[in-house]
Amino acid sequence: MGRFYLSQPYEASPGGKAVPLCGQGQRPVNPGPRPAGRSFDGKIERMPDGFKDHGGVYRVRAFQALNWLDHGFGTRNSPAFDALPATQAKQVHSDRVLTVREASTCAGVGDALVTDRPGLRLAVRTADCIPVLLVDREKRVVAAVHAGWRGTLAGIAQRTVETMTQKFGCAPEDLEAALGPGIGACCFEVGPEVAKLFDPQQETKTRLDLHGLNRRQLISAGLRPAKIHLVGLCTRCAESDFYSFRRDGARAGRMVSSIALLETRTSLQQPRPCEQKN
Ligand SMILES: [Zn+2]
Repeated sequence: MGRFYLSQPYEASPGGKAVPLCGQGQRPVNPGPRPAGRSFDGKIERMPDGFKDHGGVYRVRAFQALNWLDHGFGTRNSPAFDALPATQAKQVHSDRVLTVREASTCAGVGDALVTDRPGLRLAVRTADCIPVLLVDREKRVVAAVHAGWRGTLAGIAQRTVETMTQKFGCAPEDLEAALGPGIGACCFEVGPEVAKLFDPQQETKTRLDLHGLNRRQLISAGLRPAKIHLVGLCTRCAESDFYSFRRDGARAGRMVSSIALLETRTSLQQPRPCEQKN
């Protein structure tokens, strides 16, 4: 196993469009061919599987295609999305996963929420940490995860998959994940004391790749690589879109990311057929 926490390449999905967004639009001039296994300067400069809508919310195409699902990664410019009523937890950078059966603004202490209840929106708040949204298309179960470096080290994404498997009967290969905006390897330098926690061999400072780490964790938990979608984007680089704890310190705001199973269509009243002849 190599130093997997260092900057990892991000493969675009087939047909995925490369969008330069990290580094506030600056990208290397004529960078030449990309060396295999490396991204430029370790920056996440692409958004292979997502797009930003008119409300300032990043969405993943694969999730957007499901008409019974609503999801999104909020930005600092998405007040309407942020204000949607949502169930949240007191986040403590742990590996604790909460099973949610009813809507609550304080579902408990933990860093991941799972539910199979339609109409119940699950939300996490981040400002550099990685928001991860999960869905099981077969069983119709959803989860929202807050994964900073401590949560990633504790295995929060993996714990969430385990909870979905054990408590909701999900099969990991049916699960689909979306990794939202968070601090990129370009900006997340950590000292040897933190680096060592991820790799005991590491004795100097290094850059952590939280997107890559969580992606690998989900693959270890049984998800198919093709079903892990990446919005990517570095919260520290893209100041106009995101809050960043590293950049703004304690005054940093928080972005809201959420996911919800929509109420089934059958619960809507059928309109009476029109008897009037046109
Ligand atoms: Zn960055």
